[in-house]
Amino acid sequence: MQSGTMSAELAFNRNVDVDYGVAEEVAPDIRRIVANNPGPYTFLGTNTYIVGSGHLAVVDPGPADEVHLQAIADAVKGECLTHILITHSHHDHCDAAKPLQAMLGGEIIAYGPTDTARGAGVAGLGDVFVDASFVPDRVVRDGETVKGKGFALDVLHMPGHAPDHLCFAHVGRRTMFTGDHVMGWNTTVIAPPEGNMAAFLESLERLMQRNDKLFLPGHGGRIQTPQRMVRAYITHRKWREQTILACLDDGTGTIRGIVGKLYGSLDRALQEAAALSVRAHLEHLIARKIVRTESAGEFLEAGGWLEAVYVRAVS
Ligand SMILES: [Zn+2]
Repeated sequence: MQSGTMSAELAFNRNVDVDYGVAEEVAPDIRRIVANNPGPYTFLGTNTYIVGSGHLAVVDPGPADEVHLQAIADAVKGECLTHILITHSHHDHCDAAKPLQAMLGGEIIAYGPTDTARGAGVAGLGDVFVDASFVPDRVVRDGETVKGKGFALDVLHMPGHAPDHLCFAHVGRRTMFTGDHVMGWNTTVIAPPEGNMAAFLESLERLMQRNDKLFLPGHGGRIQTPQRMVRAYITHRKWREQTILACLDDGTGTIRGIVGKLYGSLDRALQEAAALSVRAHLEHLIARKIVRTESAGEFLEAGGWLEAVYVRAVS
C-alpha cells in the first residue's frame, strides 16, 4: 500500500519475548503465563491471565497442555482459585478449563451455548477451532459482574470473532481482557458463520466508547494505546471493504479471485482465513444491499463457495 492512502498496515508490536511457563506481572494484580502453542493463528501462544492476589480468577486457561497447566498451578501455589473465565469457546482458550478445575477448583464461567451457527460453514478453520460441546458451570450475560475476593470483572458480550465472545473489564483498573476481539499482534479472524463482520464492528464501536488504558489480549503483548488500536482495527476493515468493492468494479467477483488479488503474498496457512474474511465482508455488504449474489447459495451447497460470483447491487 502506498503511504497517504488509508493503509491496511496496522502497527503491531511483534517484538515480544516470551518465556513459556513463567508468570509475569503485566499490570498490578495481573500475571500472564503464555502457553507453548505458537502457530499462524495464535502468534507465540495463548495468554493465560491470573487476576488478583490470594483469591484469584484465571482468564482463558488456554490449551489442555500439561506443562502449561502445571505452570499455572505452580504460579498460584498457596492461593485460592475461585473463578475460571473463558472469553470464547475456541480450543486454544478453553480446553484447559476442566483440567485446571480438576487440579485447583474454581467455577467455570462463560457465555455458554449460542443460538447462532457455529464453525466456519466450510471444512477447515472454524470447525477445527470451535469446541461446540463446551458448557460452563455458570452462564453470564452482558452487563453482569463476576465478583471475587478483592477483584471484580464486568462482563461485555462482544460477538464478531465468535458468537459467544466475552471481554472482561477489570473493575476500577481501566483494564480490559480482550480475548481475540482485539489482539496485540494481528487483525482478528472473522470466519462466517462463526464470525460476523457487522457484529464485530459494533463490538469495536463499543470499545471506542470506553476509556480503558490497557488491553490484555488473548495473543500478543499488552496494548497500551487501546483507543488507537481499536480505531486502527475499524479503519482497517473499512479500507478492506473498499478494496473488495474495487475488485468487484474491476470484474473480479469470486472470492478466489479477490483473495488472489488482495492477499497474493499471503502464507498458505492464512489463505483460508483470508478467503473467509472476504466472505464475511461480502455478507456484510449484502446485508446493507451494496452487493448482491445470485450464485452464492448453490455454490455453498456444492462446497464451491470460492467460485460464487458477487456483483455491485444496482441502486
Ligand atoms: Zn478465537
